[in-house]
Amino acid sequence: MKKDELIQTLEQTIENISDFPIPGIQFKDITPIFLNPKLYEAVIADLAAFSKDKIDVVCGIESRGYLFGIAIAVALDVPFVLIRKKGKLPPPFVSEKYDLEYGTAEIEMKVGQIKPGQRVLIHDDLLATGGTTEAAAKLVKKQGAIASQFSFLIGLKDLKGEEKLSQFDAEVYQILHY
Ligand code: AMP
Repeated sequence: MKKDELIQTLEQTIENISDFPIPGIQFKDITPIFLNPKLYEAVIADLAAFSKDKIDVVCGIESRGYLFGIAIAVALDVPFVLIRKKGKLPPPFVSEKYDLEYGTAEIEMKVGQIKPGQRVLIHDDLLATGGTTEAAAKLVKKQGAIASQFSFLIGLKDLKGEEKLSQFDAEVYQILHY
């Protein structure tokens, strides 16, 4: 699928839900993508092309970051490491608190699954304020690895997530950039 067609099909497929989960938020529902295997395949090919030969490991953020992150890792033949929400992982793990577009949270990563010096792609479905991804990159740095790329299906420009990520001196890619 050509890039223009990918963007157009994604725009037609992703559903916008106003005032969910709280008033004032326009929720982007990506689940219809999974009803269209060809579209899913094209999304993975596009995200994998961005990271090809540039990373040693993919980190996906729970839970929608797993839906694409694992497939990117398989396509690139590199390991996949889960970044989980608080309380799900047995020790030892490292953790980081962060602010969300709505609320606050904490994420955790198992110690030792990424190695010092590895170039890491951090992937999630959507970049809003960048708080989640910033926390994920801090977890990567705590392990002595390098947050060298960030990728998302959707980036919400108004929330300035990209500015928050500029501190990491990494490449940022968003298929749809509103
Ligand atoms: P942030 O930390 O503000 O960049 O928020 C990103 C995380 O929250 C991602 O894991 C998204 O899945 C989720 N998220 C934030 N805003 C939205 C939104 N408007 N629609 C769907 N998911 C969102």
